[in-house]
Amino acid sequence: MTTVGDKLQQVQGRIAAACAASGREAASVTLLAVSKTFGPQAVREAHAAGQTAFGENYIQEAVEKIVMLADLPLQWHCIGPVQSNKTRLVAQHFDWMHTVDRLKVAQRLSEQRPAELRPLNVCLQVNIDGGPAKSGVAPTEVLALAQQVRQLPRLVLRGLMTIPEPATGFEAQRAVHLLAKALFDDTRLALGEPEDFDTLSMGMTADLEAAIAAGSTLVRVGTAIFGGRQAG
Ligand SMILES: *Cc1c(COP(=O)(O)O)cnc(C)c1O
Repeated sequence: MTTVGDKLQQVQGRIAAACAASGREAASVTLLAVSKTFGPQAVREAHAAGQTAFGENYIQEAVEKIVMLADLPLQWHCIGPVQSNKTRLVAQHFDWMHTVDRLKVAQRLSEQRPAELRPLNVCLQVNIDGGPAKSGVAPTEVLALAQQVRQLPRLVLRGLMTIPEPATGFEAQRAVHLLAKALFDDTRLALGEPEDFDTLSMGMTADLEAAIAAGSTLVRVGTAIFGGRQAG
């Protein structure tokens, strides 16, 4: 049987190979283990194998897990859509929030971040391939939102995040990720190259090689570590 530890090692191998192929240091890419729909035991197994950063989509499910795993030194990333009436749970329980796409959500997260916790790390989710029904800020509006979010006292703007439509083949995947990389670089420059604007969150099980080739600094991987999820 292949354990979570074995699969983590395989994914680390894929990341290392992809970095080598594009002349990048393996340490320049962070692996976020996406544990949504899997129970606390799976997270414990991954932690025992050396994984510390975990991503969750569903706030209620995530908070239960975070509370049950409070004995472990884990870093929790919210990568799912959040309605503005759920921001308080994110502000109270997570270390990172990847899907900020409007000022109102950012303002609430900043106001609701408990004083005893460090500022919340946030990424702006960008609708990089222009799907009309998709969440994410339009590329043309990223800089203005970034400037506003950087004024909020309890948030640290760390970068951009994308979830492109699934594309088939390395070149098609890479082409979309390169658009996100260019937007990331332009935004960083326009902001005055802040040191903490250092994260480009893109790439999942199916396209992490293409994302790394394009410049991803954080890949969000679920299936390749924990196995398939039930639909719905
Ligand atoms: C579920 C999810 C992932 C992980 O997807 P896999 O294909 O299982 O690796 C990554 N990012 C987001 C936003 C997700 O919702």
